[in-house]
Amino acid sequence: MLSAGIYSFLPLGYRVIRKISEIIREEMDAIGGQEFHLPALNPKEVWEETNRVAAFGDTLFQIKNREYVLAPTHEEIMTFHARNVVKSYKDMPQIWYQIQTKFRNEPRPRSGVIRGRQFLMKDAYSFDTSWEGLDNSYDLHDKAYRRIFDRCGLKYFVVGASSGAMGGTGSEEFMVKSSAGEDTVAYCKSCGYAANVEVAVSRVNGVERDSESKSIFEISTPDVKSIDELCEFLKIDETQCAKSRVYIHNEKPILVLMLGNDEVNETKLEKVLGGAVRPAHPDELKEISGADAGSIGPVGFNGRIIADNRLKNANNMFSGANKNDYHIGGIDFNRDITNVEYSDFRIVKSGEGCPNCEKHLEVFPAIELGHIFKLGTKYSDSMRAFFTDEKGEEHPIIMGSYGIGVERVMACSIEQNHDANGIVWDKAIAPFLVHLIGLNLKKQDIVDTCEKIYNDLNQAKIDVLFDDRDVTAGFKFNDADLLGMPLQIVVGEKKLKENKCEIKIRKTGERFDIVLNELQNKIKELLQ
Ligand code: ATP
Ligand code: MG
Repeated sequence: MLSAGIYSFLPLGYRVIRKISEIIREEMDAIGGQEFHLPALNPKEVWEETNRVAAFGDTLFQIKNREYVLAPTHEEIMTFHARNVVKSYKDMPQIWYQIQTKFRNEPRPRSGVIRGRQFLMKDAYSFDTSWEGLDNSYDLHDKAYRRIFDRCGLKYFVVGASSGAMGGTGSEEFMVKSSAGEDTVAYCKSCGYAANVEVAVSRVNGVERDSESKSIFEISTPDVKSIDELCEFLKIDETQCAKSRVYIHNEKPILVLMLGNDEVNETKLEKVLGGAVRPAHPDELKEISGADAGSIGPVGFNGRIIADNRLKNANNMFSGANKNDYHIGGIDFNRDITNVEYSDFRIVKSGEGCPNCEKHLEVFPAIELGHIFKLGTKYSDSMRAFFTDEKGEEHPIIMGSYGIGVERVMACSIEQNHDANGIVWDKAIAPFLVHLIGLNLKKQDIVDTCEKIYNDLNQAKIDVLFDDRDVTAGFKFNDADLLGMPLQIVVGEKKLKENKCEIKIRKTGERFDIVLNELQNKIKELLQ
C-alpha cells in the first residue's frame, strides 16, 4: 500500500494480474471484441456532455489547474469515438474493450485492492442498431464472463442488480460470497433466486386489519425513541407500529412509513421517487415535522407521505405524534392518512420467504466481480452518437457496458483459496506453477540439479520460481506455503543420493518422492 486505496503491484502479484488479463483478453476476443487503450486523463468537457461530472460528484478526481478529470469509467470516451466512426448501420455491431486503470475517489477505501482509488478494470462497450442487437451483445458478455470466471477457478453467482449512476435498463452482477464484501445479496439455495438487496424482494405478509378500528388517541411516551422501546413501553408488538423516516427529495421532505423494524431500502425509494434522496439531518427534522427523530408520524405531517406495502389497510397502529415524547394510537391508514402512496420499500432480511419458491432467503455479504448493463441510448442521446439506418433515417446507437475488476478477481480467488499457511493459488492464475526449493545450496550437486530442473521446466513452458536464497529449510518451506504455488519441488542431499527429489502438492499437503528423470512428466501430469 502506497497510501489509502493506492497499491503497487510487486513482481509476483503483477504476474497474477497479467494472467487474469490474458484470460479476459482471450474470452473478449472470442466474442468479437477489439481491444482499445483509452487515456485516463480526460478533458472535462466530454464528461459535461452527459452531466456525469455532477453524477459522480466527489468520487470523480478532478485536476484543478486545468479542466481535466481522471476517468472513473469510459462510457463517454468510447461514445466519443463511436460518434466519430460508427455512422451507418453497416458499421455495427461492435464490441470495444480495454483493460485499463480507473480512478475513483472512493470515500472509504478498505479491504485492500478490493476497493482501490486507482484500480484496473476490463471495460467493454457494445454498439448496436436495435434492442435485439443489444440483447445479443449482452448475452455474449454474460457467457464470456462465465467463461472468464470459470477459467479463473472462481465460485460465483449472478444476481439481478440496480443500475446506479450508470443508467440504463437491464443489469446483472457477478458476485462472490465473502465476509470482506461490501455488497449484500439475497440468495435462495433451493431455486437459485439471487438479487442484490438493493433490488431484492421477499415473500412477507402485510399487517392484518382488525375487525374494529379504534379512534385516534394521543399517549405520553417519555424518552421512548425506537420501535423496540415503544413496544416495551406500551406492551405491544412491532407489527402494531408504523416507523417514520424522513427523506429529502428535490429539496422537499418525504415521510416514509415502514412496518415495525423494517428498514428503508433507499435504492427502491429512489426508483419510485425518481432521482436521488437523502435522509433528513437531525436538525432539519424539528422544522419539518415539529418533533425530533423518534416522535415523528403521519398524523398531521405536513408533506408527502409514502408507505411500505405491508402497511396497506392497517388500522389500530401506533406512530409518532409530531410532538416530542408523544405517540398516537388507533391510526387507521384508510381513514386517517389521506394521499398515502404504497410501494415496496423494504430491505429484505435473512429467513424471509423466497419470492420464487416456497423456501427461504439467505442474506450475506458478497464482493462484486463484474457488472453487465444494458445502457440503451443514455450516452448516445446526450452525446449525439447517431447512425443512419437502411432508409437513411437517424437513430441513437444502442449501447451496453460491461466491467470486470481485475484486482477483485485476484482478491476473490485468494478469499476462496487459502488455508492457515497462506495462499493456495488456482493454477490458471498462479504467479508460478512450481516453487523449486534447493535445500543446501553450498553443495554443488544440489545447485546443478536445481538449475537443470529450472531450465528443463522453463523450456517445457512451465513457470518455475527458484528459491536460491541462503536461508534455512524451514524458512523456505514456510515461504513456499505462504506464496502458494500449486506444486513444490524440494531438492535435498539425502534423496539426491538416490537420484530422487520430493514433490509437494500445496492444496492437499500430499508429498512423495520421484526419480529425477521422471520429474517433468510427473509435474505435467499433476498440472493437467
Ligand atoms: P461497487 O458497487 O463495488 O462500488 P461499482 O458498481 O461502482 O462497484 P462498476 O462501476 O460497475 O462498479 O465497475 C465495474 C467493476 O469494476 C466492478 O464490478 C468491480 O469489479 C470493479 N470496481 C469498481 N470499483 C472498484 C474499486 N474502487 N476498486 C477495485 N475494483 C473496482
Ligand atoms: Mg462504486
